[in-house]
Amino acid sequence: MRVFNFSAGPAVLPEEVLTQAQDEMLDWHGSGMSVMELSHRGPQFANIVARAEADLRELLAIPQSYRVLFMQGGALAENAIVPLNLLRGRTVADYVDTGSWSQKSIREAQRYCEARVIASSAASGYTHIPPQDEWQMSAAAAYLHLCTNETIGGLEYHWLPELEGGVPLVADMSSHLLSRPVPIERFGLIYAGAQKNIGPSGLTLVIVREDLLGGAHPLCPSAFDYQVVADHGSLFNTPPTYAIYIAGLVFEWLKRQALPGRTPLQTMEARNIEKSELLYGTLDASGWYRTVVEKADRSRMNVPFFLGDDALDGVFLKGAEERGLVQLRGHKSVGGMRASIYNAMPRAGVVALVDYLTEFERQYG
Ligand SMILES: *Cc1c(COP(=O)(O)O)cnc(C)c1O
Repeated sequence: MRVFNFSAGPAVLPEEVLTQAQDEMLDWHGSGMSVMELSHRGPQFANIVARAEADLRELLAIPQSYRVLFMQGGALAENAIVPLNLLRGRTVADYVDTGSWSQKSIREAQRYCEARVIASSAASGYTHIPPQDEWQMSAAAAYLHLCTNETIGGLEYHWLPELEGGVPLVADMSSHLLSRPVPIERFGLIYAGAQKNIGPSGLTLVIVREDLLGGAHPLCPSAFDYQVVADHGSLFNTPPTYAIYIAGLVFEWLKRQALPGRTPLQTMEARNIEKSELLYGTLDASGWYRTVVEKADRSRMNVPFFLGDDALDGVFLKGAEERGLVQLRGHKSVGGMRASIYNAMPRAGVVALVDYLTEFERQYG
């Protein structure tokens, strides 16, 4: 029996995609082989990559002046790969600190440059995103880095900064890429580990403006040099072929979700707003459950919350599991609960969670 999986990642995938992968497992499109067994140099896999890239470009309206790279190493590797490629002789990069994931990016970048924290909401316990008028931007920064959805703290940017002087904006979008339309042209580079909202772990997506290629540090590993990866169509070395295939099926699934008059990502955004409002609305109305993030900065993807009495956490989790609502325990650094409600979490899963929240409060609150 399938459960409702609220894990932050690896996370729920669309059931249709899993069923299709199962149907195609032993014999992909008459090849007599599983996708896992196809040569990454053969025409069949070339077709899978080309289609995945074309669909991603269509979904996000990625301009021609941007390259799409299928990489490995996860978002944490990108925390090093980004400075290795984008410093281009400069010594300073600007970072906005909004929680655990931006902190990790900052710490890693400090090995390669002066990673300047130009704004932070640490003092308030990461309950809001510092507004741009508080940012102390450096004059000569190579780039400005944001984590646009903090998966652990549950904060999301619902606005983008206006940058002057052509400083490239770099974003870790691991946990909300494809959950809403994104104006790609406002960014120099976007990266995302796939295992939250895109596909299986092992694949990292990078979308990078062409003029930022070609400046990698001489000590940057070739497999992590954006120019090298781009020149080889993401096939410089063996890519995570099966993960790319599944991500491609997710892109096709997203395209099938489009409602008349709306793009697929406008459709997903509307659904994600509805699902998150249902959950936040229930938590807000209760007075027993608590959330800490300021309303304007709440994530639509990751919803951390606390019970009125944390001694009941174990009882809550056990009851949830008995109903097929799993992986609701909050990250250990925050405590409490967290419901991750990515694209593939059906509305019915959120409804089941909300019903359980209401009943639990009635019984124990
Ligand atoms: C999960 C996550 C990461 C870590 O990704 P890995 O693929 O494990 O390296 C980094 N940033 C954000 C925002 C995440 O959600």
